[in-house]
Amino acid sequence: MRYSETGFNLEIDLTRGSIERVETDPKLTELHLGGLGTNAKILWDRVPADVEPFSPDNLLIFSSGLLCGTPAPGANRTIISTYSPQTLLMGYSMMGGFLAPELKYAGYDKVIFRGKSPNLVYLWINNDKVEIRDASHLRGKGAVETSEMIRQELKEPKAQVAAIGLAGENRVYMASIEQGRSSASRLGLGAVMGDKGIKAIAVRGTKDLNVARPAEFMQLCNEVLHYIKDRAPNPVPEVMPILAGLGSPQEMAHYDEKWHTENFMWGNARVRRKGFWNDEIEKMWKNTLETVRTRLISCYNCPMKCGAVISVPGVSTYMMKCFTKLTYAMAAFVDDSEFGFRIAQRATEYGVDGFSMPQTMAFAFELKEAGILTDADFEGCPSDNEGRFYWLLDRIVRREGIGDVLANGTYWAAEQIGKGAAEYAHNNIKKHEQLPLKLGMLNPIYFLMYCTGEKMNITQIEGNFPQAPFSTMELREAFVKDWVQAPNDKFKQYVLDWEFRGERSMPFYPPVEACCEIVDWQEKMHHIDDALGLCAGLSSFPLKPPYHIHNLPLFISAATGMDMDEDGLTHIFNRNRSLVRAVNVRRGLRRADEKPPDDHWKKRFPELEKKLLDAYYEFKGWNQDGVPTKESLNALGLDYVAEDFLKRGILTDEVGASSNGSSTETEKN
Ligand code: SF4
Repeated sequence: MRYSETGFNLEIDLTRGSIERVETDPKLTELHLGGLGTNAKILWDRVPADVEPFSPDNLLIFSSGLLCGTPAPGANRTIISTYSPQTLLMGYSMMGGFLAPELKYAGYDKVIFRGKSPNLVYLWINNDKVEIRDASHLRGKGAVETSEMIRQELKEPKAQVAAIGLAGENRVYMASIEQGRSSASRLGLGAVMGDKGIKAIAVRGTKDLNVARPAEFMQLCNEVLHYIKDRAPNPVPEVMPILAGLGSPQEMAHYDEKWHTENFMWGNARVRRKGFWNDEIEKMWKNTLETVRTRLISCYNCPMKCGAVISVPGVSTYMMKCFTKLTYAMAAFVDDSEFGFRIAQRATEYGVDGFSMPQTMAFAFELKEAGILTDADFEGCPSDNEGRFYWLLDRIVRREGIGDVLANGTYWAAEQIGKGAAEYAHNNIKKHEQLPLKLGMLNPIYFLMYCTGEKMNITQIEGNFPQAPFSTMELREAFVKDWVQAPNDKFKQYVLDWEFRGERSMPFYPPVEACCEIVDWQEKMHHIDDALGLCAGLSSFPLKPPYHIHNLPLFISAATGMDMDEDGLTHIFNRNRSLVRAVNVRRGLRRADEKPPDDHWKKRFPELEKKLLDAYYEFKGWNQDGVPTKESLNALGLDYVAEDFLKRGILTDEVGASSNGSSTETEKN
């Protein structure tokens, strides 16, 4: 019997219209767990390195995580993987909501799409009955509207539906896949779904899922629930509100947005609104939030309720997803907080990334102010701040006029526009919009995360280590006292020694070796979550979460029956991490691509930055081009990757030898 997984994937060939139920190899679960780990293995094995994102040969994989569908709180992530049209590298994005557990209850761990459908279709999975159905009547419909129409036509109100809107149909590179109160937004996965001709996936499952040692597993789940309950009235002192508690960033019960509104200007991040947040604004924003928020809601099997049902006069009621609450209002420099909630409804129906889209729109208006784009590009655009944002959003998702260029995101739009536009696309890493934030002093931990992160989004790889030192020794001691999540006492010492000024302050503290350990730990936690399908809001993202490196092996053992300890889990993380890197190395990723935006920090330290990157590559078992070495690949059981790299000349037989130096940047140039 298979525990914690069904042992079956659905293989859908959209060109031929065929559906297969395929038994999976349990050995792969032992090697990679599930979710992102097995997705990376499938992409490596089945999609050649030179396949274009919009080729029928590209795969689009919807995967549950290994713990999804079990009673583990917050184990509800669907991990979607493909080659991204935005970065041209492996794109993976997670969504919460309800789809992954439902898929498990229908009897499948993954749905793997290949080919392209000649007509717009949707997939209906009803336990053992699976159909590809015509979706021509859904063309142009909103993502939320589509989900509702599908439930009605199937007469199945309990079906969970993930859908794209107009943006995905039009292959907008910022297109998301929407599911209830959640979405897989980053890296244009909705565009690949639209390119394949899939409007939606609807799932209804009523089967059981087995865990190996149920009593032990339930005990662990109860411990997590108790911890969550105890943490609610005990936020971590002296850190910004979104890091002080558990759950998703910008959770809907939270209204102190001083830090975000004064530091992130989304488009032109170089302009701050210092002093924007005052008592009057706080009162207004709190009042708006409490008025529009009609109910707090959670994803499947989670007590956190960090989403909300939003009802703004004049627009349909909708569920607000993570990190969209402020982004449009900040990009548009609009003080009226209700504007953000109004435009987010339209953006959700269109199915777009609430992070990249506002940045791209603000970028466009900056180009207009700079005279790089002209009045002719904006013919018919209203002059008021709100009106012009709605106007441009419509143009982009329809790919009309200048919207067609902007639909490819700031990096590619700047390439196409020329005339110095690239200067304004200043938040990109690996061709992808990042945090619109400009700071003073280099943070060595963030430097490494920005450079080497392959989830592409800095917001999704930061984690359990504080973002800045605590101001007093008392606070530091209090923080480390009950810091059970730290891998070992060394990490506690780094926190105790870290100061705002003097020898033990940034950029030279934490020291290089400590930065490598901290970044590796944070990455490890995210990779484990993405393989298990756990919400980062309860694990890898906040300070002091209920899931951590010490209890996760116990969850995996009790759920699957596998013998798992911290070393074993770390070994799997290293294997999965190296495999994701290998997929990208094969597509040209090299050291030249691994750099933060030039103006992210005012004070830069080239010598230290080089030292950090050199040391991290070495720490990870990669050569100085960022390519995993033959020795490290072999030690992780990835001999087949090493052989492939040798054949392609990416590695040579020399120990630790350098690669052929290809990079997505140099190829572009
Ligand atoms: S913490 Fe928030 S985002 Fe995460 S599973 Fe719970 S409700 Fe969903």
